[in-house]
Amino acid sequence: MRVYNTLSKRKEEFVPLEPGKVKMYVCGPTVYNLIHIGNARPMIVFDTVRRYLEHKGYEVNYVSNFTDVDDKIIAKANEEGVSAQEISERYIAECKKDMEAMNVRPATTHPRATQEIDGMIEMIRTLMDKGYAYNVDGTVYFRTRKFAEYGKLSHKNLDDLRSGGRSLLVTGEDQKEDPLDFVLWKPKKEGEPFWPSPWSEGRPGWHIECSVMSKKYLGEEIDIHAGGEDLIFPHHENEIAQSECCNGKPFAKYWLHNAFLNIDNRKMSKSLGNFFTVREISEKYDLQVLRFFMLSAHYRSPLNFSADLMEAAGNGLERIRNAVSNLKYIMESRTMQNCPEGNGAACVLDSHGESGHIMENSAASEDAVLTSAEQDILAGAKAYETKFDEAMDDDFNTADAIAAIFELVKYANSNLTSANSKELVQAVYGELVDLCGILGLIVEEKEELLDADIEALIEERQAARKAKNFARADEIRNQLAEQGITLLDTREGVKWKRA
Ligand code: AMP
Ligand code: ZN
Repeated sequence: MRVYNTLSKRKEEFVPLEPGKVKMYVCGPTVYNLIHIGNARPMIVFDTVRRYLEHKGYEVNYVSNFTDVDDKIIAKANEEGVSAQEISERYIAECKKDMEAMNVRPATTHPRATQEIDGMIEMIRTLMDKGYAYNVDGTVYFRTRKFAEYGKLSHKNLDDLRSGGRSLLVTGEDQKEDPLDFVLWKPKKEGEPFWPSPWSEGRPGWHIECSVMSKKYLGEEIDIHAGGEDLIFPHHENEIAQSECCNGKPFAKYWLHNAFLNIDNRKMSKSLGNFFTVREISEKYDLQVLRFFMLSAHYRSPLNFSADLMEAAGNGLERIRNAVSNLKYIMESRTMQNCPEGNGAACVLDSHGESGHIMENSAASEDAVLTSAEQDILAGAKAYETKFDEAMDDDFNTADAIAAIFELVKYANSNLTSANSKELVQAVYGELVDLCGILGLIVEEKEELLDADIEALIEERQAARKAKNFARADEIRNQLAEQGITLLDTREGVKWKRA
């Protein structure tokens, strides 16, 4: 598998630090508002990278932070007259809902900056001890000139940056030794959240947060560090400087960056005001269509958002879903039509045309029941899986991977009929659903929950609440909500209704 590394500006063979394991850190959002679909691009893209790595057999430790202390959060809190914590907690909860709705799996760990302040103070102290940081009146800066490799990620000309930076210095920053030096710790201002530190009562700079959270949850050296391309400089450049100077080791082996989601060929961003929130989009489209749209381009290519492209994505997804439901229909009708005894077990014809039954999870292998003609058909279908893997092995080329899925759809549509054995249809169906699943695309129709299942889940939720296992209780509520079932806690107990 080859991945494009921003550090070397080349595609490199992927070799993890530890065989079979991948340590991956993705910079998460600053939580002061609902996330927009630009923020959703790295979430969807790197969730897909994670799923593909797992498909290849790697155990992935995936860490993605929430930046929950920041000027914008504080400004929003002041605007509403509430605490910064209230704002960040509200939008972390909203962000998690959006992630779930886009089928972005929760990270192994979602650390929050405000809960990691001790680690940040410790790292800053080490940097000071080693001479990489200096304190001016309670503000601590990183001394960029002392790190000879500063600039290696962004490949920028530091002299140009320095001379440009000099004229850009804002008041109060003229105390810096060098225009490229950046803040590790800053003193509090009136009305801001703060923590005690050896230098001042204040709060950490943004860059130190990720260096610390990555070290705590993944270790000093990690395999993949990822985020949007706007983070290359200065955020990731600064993270490298802090981590490598503190730990004396290379920080991340592979640096992956997604290109922007644009609108009218300009970056979608909160500051430009040209954004749609994921929530707004969810009112107009199935969010699986958004996911499909994002993956229809390579993650390093800019992607322009438009109603036309969303419509094309919707049609593409529909084509796959139709093929999936068609295969399901064939599977089901195949059992009914050709099963003389009709006793509920799946019915197959063996290679001699005699009927027999297998139960689900039967040990009977595909080869044992498929005719040689069907084995050829299956081999033809498997070729698209190889094509899919080849595309994904080439720096996660989801656009070509989707093309391979479309070819499989076409192949299935023209080669499979109710004259085929259930095993063959099931195998192709499984392949199609699995390939889409690696991209996080849900293409199967949801099985409707029976009343008895719903009531059993409600009972389990009540028991979880009694045991104060609120995480499980919430999980069940969400699982039911996903199926369109709303729970109402009443005096007479829990009532439910279908949407
Ligand atoms: P922020 O909350 O601005 O720190 O952004 C969170 C993540 O979203 C970062 O990885 C950004 O690079 C990414 N991001 C923000 N806007 C866009 C956009 N228009 N297209 C792609 N990624 C974006
Ligand atoms: Zn970060």
